Amino acid sequence: MGIAEELGLRVSPGLRVVALTGAGISLESGVPIFRGKGSMWEIPEARRLAERAGPPWNTRETWEYYEWRRGLVSRCKPNRAHYALAEMERYFEDFLLITQNVDGLHAKAGSRRLLELHGSMWRGRCIECGRVIDLPETPLKALPPLCPCGRPLRPDVVQFGEPIDPVVLDAAFKASKKAELFLVIGTSAVVHPAAQMPLIAIEGGARAVEINPNATPLTPFMSLSIRGRAAEVLPRLWEELLSSALG
Ligand SMILES: [Zn+2]
Repeated sequence: MGIAEELGLRVSPGLRVVALTGAGISLESGVPIFRGKGSMWEIPEARRLAERAGPPWNTRETWEYYEWRRGLVSRCKPNRAHYALAEMERYFEDFLLITQNVDGLHAKAGSRRLLELHGSMWRGRCIECGRVIDLPETPLKALPPLCPCGRPLRPDVVQFGEPIDPVVLDAAFKASKKAELFLVIGTSAVVHPAAQMPLIAIEGGARAVEINPNATPLTPFMSLSIRGRAAEVLPRLWEELLSSALG
């Protein structure tokens, strides 16, 4: 029996699909994790830079830290899981990708219907006029980079303890509520509010599939949990779903 049948899903372009991704999907592209055990926090240089970064986040010191991170991430490429999600977006008419990652790899892989819950390290935001400016080049010519209004920009990244943009959050919850298939990929989903999204989807009747090398607090709620790395599992899952639609 195929996965679609097992889930009781009829796969067609009209199926409403939401995917939620976290650090696990980027780890396979070599993006260092930024918190916890085995993270870049354990690298003295990163720690020294991180400790000098801080509110209001539009300082030269903050950008020195971000440039260090941006330099590392600029050498990372999207992996097969990122590309599978971009393909799914092209197939399904009602598809949304929600990510907790700030590394920009989903956009690089071609995803456009994308909500970056925590922002992106490839953009700056002005705390005076609110403009959001793309900053794709690293190293930047000047630190801090400036807004067209003349004020220094901060990274367009939600810092620990800061709220997520309510417009972004609202769109994520709305899509989750009406999803028929919800994929949880490479996230331990312990960080709220992202952790609530699959639960809201399940409450609304969605089938939920988790892809993670380890069990997570969400595992007991899933229709299906696949233990493995996203770059291996997701392309196979997508291929199987697609063949069940064609068959
Ligand atoms: Zn400005």
